[in-house]
Amino acid sequence: LESRTFSWPDEAACERFAAALAAEPALRRAGIELDGPLGAGKTTFVRHLLRALGVSGRIKSPTYTVVEPYQVNGLAVSHFDFYRFNDPREWEDAGFRELFAAPGLRLSEWADKARAVLPPPDLRLAIEPQDDDSRRVTALAGSALGQALLAAGAR
Ligand code: ADP
Ligand code: MG
Repeated sequence: LESRTFSWPDEAACERFAAALAAEPALRRAGIELDGPLGAGKTTFVRHLLRALGVSGRIKSPTYTVVEPYQVNGLAVSHFDFYRFNDPREWEDAGFRELFAAPGLRLSEWADKARAVLPPPDLRLAIEPQDDDSRRVTALAGSALGQALLAAGAR
């Protein structure tokens, strides 16, 4: 499937990309993974996406809770950060399997730490900070749905 590389010269470019995805109906049943080192901008992207979808309250990073759920305009969103995820039993016990099976949007940071249990994503964004503080973003579609999101983001 398709892969594309983007450049986000600044956070405003990340915000524009998020807004373009938010306008795409396919987003409402997508699984998206955000890869990249600490400080790359994974949570920042999720914040801009949630704002574009209409979330108005505080948007916390789920570093300690693993997941933060949102309900906005009839859309269920689960924002995961698997950085502290190390027991696959938690997948069942904490109800993550149900969250992934239910309709809605799933956004995952540090997906590699839950690779054994996570279903494959529709879209993966690998964010690499550059020396000039811009971000090089490699987007990889894993499904037709992801392909539609990629096309929306590239417009
Ligand atoms: P992560 O979740 O990947 O650890 P965060 O989103 O918490 O990273 O932090 C990224 C930081 O980088 C934020 O302070 C954000 O303002 C900053 N930043 C600078 N340029 C960009 C950009 N182009 N895209 C996203 N974030 C950026
Ligand atoms: Mg983060």
